Amino acid sequence: MAQDAQRVAIVTGAARGIGAATARRLAADGMAVAVLDLDAATCAGTVDAITAAGGRAFAVGADVSQADQVEAAVGKVAAELGPPAVLVNNAGVIRDNLLFKMTENDWDTVLGVHLRGAFLMSRAAQKHMVDQRFGRIVNLSSSSALGNRGQVNYSAAKAGLQGFTKSLAVELGQFGITANAVAPGFIVTDMTAATAARIGVPFDDFQTAAAGQIPVRRVGQPEDVAHVISFLCSEGAGFVSGQVIYVAGGPLC
Ligand code: NAP
Repeated sequence: MAQDAQRVAIVTGAARGIGAATARRLAADGMAVAVLDLDAATCAGTVDAITAAGGRAFAVGADVSQADQVEAAVGKVAAELGPPAVLVNNAGVIRDNLLFKMTENDWDTVLGVHLRGAFLMSRAAQKHMVDQRFGRIVNLSSSSALGNRGQVNYSAAKAGLQGFTKSLAVELGQFGITANAVAPGFIVTDMTAATAARIGVPFDDFQTAAAGQIPVRRVGQPEDVAHVISFLCSEGAGFVSGQVIYVAGGPLC
């Protein structure tokens, strides 16, 4: 790192999946990491993995869609680890259904966690970044932003995050803050396992079928996404902002 103080990162939804891999990776990169999820107790595995590897981590519980919880969580992180300079808006849920069966609650829940959550977390963290004249915000979009059957709520949220990212980049660039989006394709996590279960296909078969459609002939792992996020959060990536990087093993259209 170019500066003396250790950078502090917050990764939301970091108890498992892509968030956990990202938290571990940013800690390996030298950052102190706040591992945020709905329940702080579920973050223990990620925190323990980081500390066992010699890193510094702190578990914090918050529902990212609730403004008071977000403000309190970011305050706790600043008090415990120092002011956050890096924010990865990763927390996510799916409530898939065809449009005619989708409830208002399915819609509000998905938009609430992904879009409102990213908004609230970014608003709470940006003041610390502005003070430092340095910041890195990475938002998790998805290949589903391009449209996916059964996911009008999720597609809308993930496409919305791309516009959100570009506007953040325009507003915050003057303070040394970049904002980018990473849009994964098929990544092996509990989220894709839940999709396989919902449609009644064994997860192994689901992965094999998906891999056959992907140019690199494999499905993605959480570490594939963490690697790209690591780059976007690095000191040297300060001239990359407002971009959407698809991490999908090939081009998408
Ligand atoms: P995951 O395994 O389901 O993990 C998501 C995490 O987010 C869970 O720990 C969950 O906590 C947490 N979370 C949910 N709602 C929250 C809230 N309101 N506040 C705080 N934390 C909350 O998902 P993943 O596959 O790693 O996905 C991570 C991100 O990548 C998501 O934004 C997802 O949409 C995106 N993505 C994933 C894929 C993929 O193929 N897996 C592809 C494209 C994009 P609980 O366990 O307590 O619910």
